[in-house]
Amino acid sequence: MLNDHLEADLKELREAFNSGKTKETSWRISQLNGLLRILEDRENDISMALKQDLGKHHVEAYRDEIGTVVKTVNNALVNLKQWMAAKKTRLPIAAFPSTASLVPEPLGVVLIISSWNFPIGLSLEPLIGALAAGNAVVLKPSELAPACSSLLAETIRDYLDNSAVKVIEGGSDKGERLLQYKFDKIFFTGSTRVGKVVMSSAAQHLTPVTLELGGKCPAVVGSFSSSRENNMAVKRIVWGKFGLCAGQACIAVDYILTEKKNLSNLVESLKRYIKQCYGDDPNGSHSISKIVNKKHFSRLKSLLDEPMVKSSVVYGGSLDEESLFIEPTILVDPPIHATIMTEEIFGPLLPVITLESIEDSINFIRARPNPLALYAFTENESLQKRLVSETSSGSIMFNDTILQYAVDTLPFGGVGGSGFGRYHGKYSFDNFSHEKVVMMRGFLVDFWFRYPPWTAQKLQLLKAGLRYDYLGVLLIALGLKSKA
Ligand code: NAD
Repeated sequence: MLNDHLEADLKELREAFNSGKTKETSWRISQLNGLLRILEDRENDISMALKQDLGKHHVEAYRDEIGTVVKTVNNALVNLKQWMAAKKTRLPIAAFPSTASLVPEPLGVVLIISSWNFPIGLSLEPLIGALAAGNAVVLKPSELAPACSSLLAETIRDYLDNSAVKVIEGGSDKGERLLQYKFDKIFFTGSTRVGKVVMSSAAQHLTPVTLELGGKCPAVVGSFSSSRENNMAVKRIVWGKFGLCAGQACIAVDYILTEKKNLSNLVESLKRYIKQCYGDDPNGSHSISKIVNKKHFSRLKSLLDEPMVKSSVVYGGSLDEESLFIEPTILVDPPIHATIMTEEIFGPLLPVITLESIEDSINFIRARPNPLALYAFTENESLQKRLVSETSSGSIMFNDTILQYAVDTLPFGGVGGSGFGRYHGKYSFDNFSHEKVVMMRGFLVDFWFRYPPWTAQKLQLLKAGLRYDYLGVLLIALGLKSKA
């Protein structure tokens, strides 16, 4: 028996969508402005909730969640009318006299299920797209970031149109119950395991899904001719591993691939920058997030406890269960079949795998599921080209990490095991829209050979017409030619 309240909520959302109000430009703008006001009025509350759930510093919280989302809302507000406009398309002469356009329409009532690691950003980024596209929305945040989940519920209730946008809080049980209902789109961010549950439930209603999943994101690290580039590369890797929610990020660097001859330089530089960012006692640093909960802490601890893994630790490795702190840790060549190298790490443990030649990284990556992001630090143009053409990943970034996520003009999403569908900027609007074909015919001309009764000549005319051979059509029609 399903919860009556849930059923009533979903009925209210459907009625709101059917009333047509969410399609109005003014409604969409008012909801986006509401989101902007949440982010501005409640910046401190959001930051405190992120501190409580994940130990995020205010600067990190602002950079990754508040500021990034403000940027996205502003981008949507500036471009909304252009995104909503019908797009005229070209038609072949055979369609004369006709006009056609693609008219974006909202999908209906959509469900967004989000994750805990960027609990504000990963909830609001897709919400912006869904509202800009004119949908009614259910947002289910993750129960593992409870302070953020309840703040989202409270603020969205207070600042947005509650008849058309609702936050439904809860864990997997609530998620499963929601999935029993028919939605017009499900946008899911989370694990591959739950992604499969979402997709099979959606199939019962033929509901389209976007799955933003995880995986292991490698960083291929070559060597640079100048120490400036080498140093900057290492700094950007340290940032892309430990600097975002302590490695609990879907596009964090998961592990490094490098040549044996680079190893000692690389490891020494990694240690130097880790110390520069987090000091000699990182447990006392306020600049690194904590592990989300005991379960994930134990999961990460057990990765280190596997045979031959602990002995591969060359830096860090201390853990404090009380404060859920794990020190930024470097491992060199842990066993390739250990869990740390077969499953997404999602924490501050950084394996460095050595190869004879940097070109071997291609086969290493190809032998594993498609990463959500692939990073490569190299000025070797032939390797760059080979990585682009011979590997597959949601994105590939050369000489930096993470930034591809923050650019509104680039689509964000996975491929293969890292998910499918894409969003951000206009791509979010498109994700939550259907582009309806609107074609308008005139009565000036009518090709008689499209209608029965069929004759050999009509077949020749159709053959010529469908090949856009208009001279052929003319000659056959005039009896001056018999075959197309
Ligand atoms: P998760 O799959 O456990 O949970 C995600 C969401 O699904 C939560 O809201 C949860 O309550 C809900 N849920 C759990 N079980 C459910 C069920 N049976 N039915 C319906 N809903 C259910 O994932 P997580 O622990 O929140 O996130 C970690 C994973 O997410 C990692 O693999 C990470 O890489 C991935 N991730 C991907 C992205 C991306 O943008 N691609 C971003 C963040 C995290």
